Amino acid sequence: MSDTFDNAIIEDTAVKLLRFAATQLPSDVSKALKNMHEQEVNPPSKAALKTIVDNFTMAETATPPLPLCQDTGIHIYYVNIGENFPKIKGIEETLRKASARATEEVPLRPNAVNPIVGGNTGDNTGRHIPFINYDFIPGADYLEITAFPKGGGSENMCALGMLKPGQGINGIKKFVIDIIINAGGQPCPPVVVGVGIGGGADIALKLGKKQLLRPLGQRHSDPEIAKLEEDLLKAINMTGIGSMGLGGEVSTALDVKIEFAHRHPASLPAAVAIQCWAARRATARIYPDKRVEFVTHKEV
Ligand code: SF4
Repeated sequence: MSDTFDNAIIEDTAVKLLRFAATQLPSDVSKALKNMHEQEVNPPSKAALKTIVDNFTMAETATPPLPLCQDTGIHIYYVNIGENFPKIKGIEETLRKASARATEEVPLRPNAVNPIVGGNTGDNTGRHIPFINYDFIPGADYLEITAFPKGGGSENMCALGMLKPGQGINGIKKFVIDIIINAGGQPCPPVVVGVGIGGGADIALKLGKKQLLRPLGQRHSDPEIAKLEEDLLKAINMTGIGSMGLGGEVSTALDVKIEFAHRHPASLPAAVAIQCWAARRATARIYPDKRVEFVTHKEV
């Protein structure tokens, strides 16, 4: 008998996660978009929000469910390994197989293109793709996998600024707002904005992007950061960019999430990760007894 966990369960779970992510928004996102549609008074933006809501409702209620956007994203996984979960082996190959299977079975648009010589692999796998982020969960006995297929339009608007430490918190606010104003309607707003501060260039970007996994409305546990999240959310919505860039006071951003790391005295990195209205993420926990619990979606 093998002393490693059954990879078939991990593969099947990842295929389901990709299907959930592509076809059904997490309930916090769908509720927030419906509320935003109720609240928006700017007619073009309200109409765009109605189209978004109609679109994702049709996608998730179709038989079988259909992708809610033609851009089904580049495949990214976040894998959190409970310290007490059984030994795992070959998870990278397993998740590659899951991405290729989901591409055929859902189906998903193939989005893995060679950046040097061109050419699409046709199955959403390639060099370093799917990209897998690993972490450990102290004391946990489960393996948590999040599928995070990321759309290209919003990814194109992400940015990194190596600020001077003297620019401080006001400099960071200005940097974030400038990036959002410059992006306008291009990242398919309403957006979720993840901000990573400090650490180093790569650390700030990774922290910013990881914030896009947090549920909407959840505030940072540090009151200073929580206030900064709220202030930036208000300021971004005051830009008036609105849903799909059509104007409006409440529909530029669904939320702002911030995380920070301590920094080198000489540098102040600030990263802005932008997620579009198609804020797709699907998470499951796999337990040692092979039980699978879907966290963000319901299996029917
Ligand atoms: S940015 Fe998002 S909503 Fe816009 S086309 Fe890409 S995946 Fe779709």
